[in-house]
Amino acid sequence: MLDAVIQVSIELPAFFYAIVFITSLMVGSFLNVVIYRLPIMMENSWKEEYKNYFSTKESAVENDVKQPFNLVLPHSTCPCCGHRIRAWENIPVISYLVLGGKCSQCKSKISIRYPAVELFTALVCTLAAWHYGPSVTALWSVLVCYILIALIFIDADKMLLPDQLTLPLLWLGLLLSTQSIFVDMFDAIIGAAAGYLSLWSVYWLFKLATGKEGMGYGDFKLLAALGAFTGWQGLPIIILLSSLVGAIVGILLLRLKSDSDEANTSQPMPFGPYIAVAGFITLLYKEPIISAYISWVID
Ligand SMILES: [Zn+2]
Repeated sequence: MLDAVIQVSIELPAFFYAIVFITSLMVGSFLNVVIYRLPIMMENSWKEEYKNYFSTKESAVENDVKQPFNLVLPHSTCPCCGHRIRAWENIPVISYLVLGGKCSQCKSKISIRYPAVELFTALVCTLAAWHYGPSVTALWSVLVCYILIALIFIDADKMLLPDQLTLPLLWLGLLLSTQSIFVDMFDAIIGAAAGYLSLWSVYWLFKLATGKEGMGYGDFKLLAALGAFTGWQGLPIIILLSSLVGAIVGILLLRLKSDSDEANTSQPMPFGPYIAVAGFITLLYKEPIISAYISWVID
């Protein structure tokens, strides 16, 4: 089945990219749900674990009936009036444009971020698919993009990189390396271990020197996962790129903040989005970046 689709796609690449684009718009719509609900689901389960761990056996038995809250239930509603979002109001990007960015019932504004995430997902995934051309590798790269996009926005919102996303990404990278999809198994295993340990050691050096935590364990797991896809050779590029982009964005944010109110330099900044973006760039353009660097050093 998949082979047949790939075969048709090779003859007609536009068909392949159109399918990736439209599918990714729809997945982008689902990612909006993941980005909003997964952190809440995690908080709920932490509270539950905490309660069960610290309460006595008797009180732990009382299981109050709760409304389900997961990626499917409850159905999406307008946060202002509670109007249930119908199927035609949930078509990626198009519904937003048709509704004029407003709830069909109470006319309150719908965040531009929803269609923006959908469009961003579709564009990034089509770029990845186009980079690899019609192939199974392209489809795997699209899946990697979905997970990275969810991680980017969850970390930006909540300073969290959920294990539910980073660890499957790591296992996927290692499993694909057994088939040498992106890199071979040796490079992937070294990449995953070195990715984790490099940030882990920076974390402890920073903590011992300053007593502060510069990043979280989620960052180590994310870099480990990306190391499994780019191989150990990709790690220096990811670290350099993410530090560079992080520094530029950090300075810009500080500028913006100091213009509006008192700058708060001690406020922690999520590092995951920069690692994820750098990882994506490295996955696609590792070879040209390395050869450009080598020719720059030689000249
Ligand atoms: Zn409403």
